[in-house]
Amino acid sequence: MMDSFPISLIRQFLFCPRIPYFNEIRGIRGLHTPWAELGKLNHEKEEELVQRRSFEFLGFGEPNRIDTSVRLESKSLGVHGVADAILIWTDFIVVVEFKTVFEPKKNWRKNGQTQQALAYASLAEERYNKKCRCILISLIRMKNQKFRYHLLEVTDEKRIFIQKKIESIRDIIKMEKLPNSSAAPEKCVQCEYLNYCNDRNF
Ligand code: SF4
Repeated sequence: MMDSFPISLIRQFLFCPRIPYFNEIRGIRGLHTPWAELGKLNHEKEEELVQRRSFEFLGFGEPNRIDTSVRLESKSLGVHGVADAILIWTDFIVVVEFKTVFEPKKNWRKNGQTQQALAYASLAEERYNKKCRCILISLIRMKNQKFRYHLLEVTDEKRIFIQKKIESIRDIIKMEKLPNSSAAPEKCVQCEYLNYCNDRNF
């Protein structure tokens, strides 16, 4: 069993609790698609742009510094990952995630991308020793598109929620047993791990 698992498992766990088991216990990873490669290139472009962008709209003044591709790790939580960008002020930080597609659901508890960004916020708080005020999901601009973003305040309730989510994933990894899944057929038919789930009767 690994001591630390990638933060991306938080999003995948929300899709199906079996994915952490396949990834971490069976060593089965998802497919590397051409879309992932394109996403990587877009991310690199956004990292350049973010250094030139104004963040006055947040209402905190401009940040003192912007770090990009920030490696984060928490020994206490046992997770690691790379945050796209961190905006740093004297007393607080804001975590930025670049996304090509983002569906802002009303309830952040049902949004894997939001939860992943909240997990980065927890790790960044540990690393920078500053509170993260909010997460900023910044949509990657395609040709001639306007800058679009979503903001979510980071609260203690959300911090505790993410901590519990991380513990649930860790429990699955510790058990080393295929967990039950209530995933509906509509989910399973689009899942990369379907070949490994022989109890899906449809
Ligand atoms: S096929 Fe269905 S049950 Fe199996 S991992 Fe995917 S979503 Fe979960």
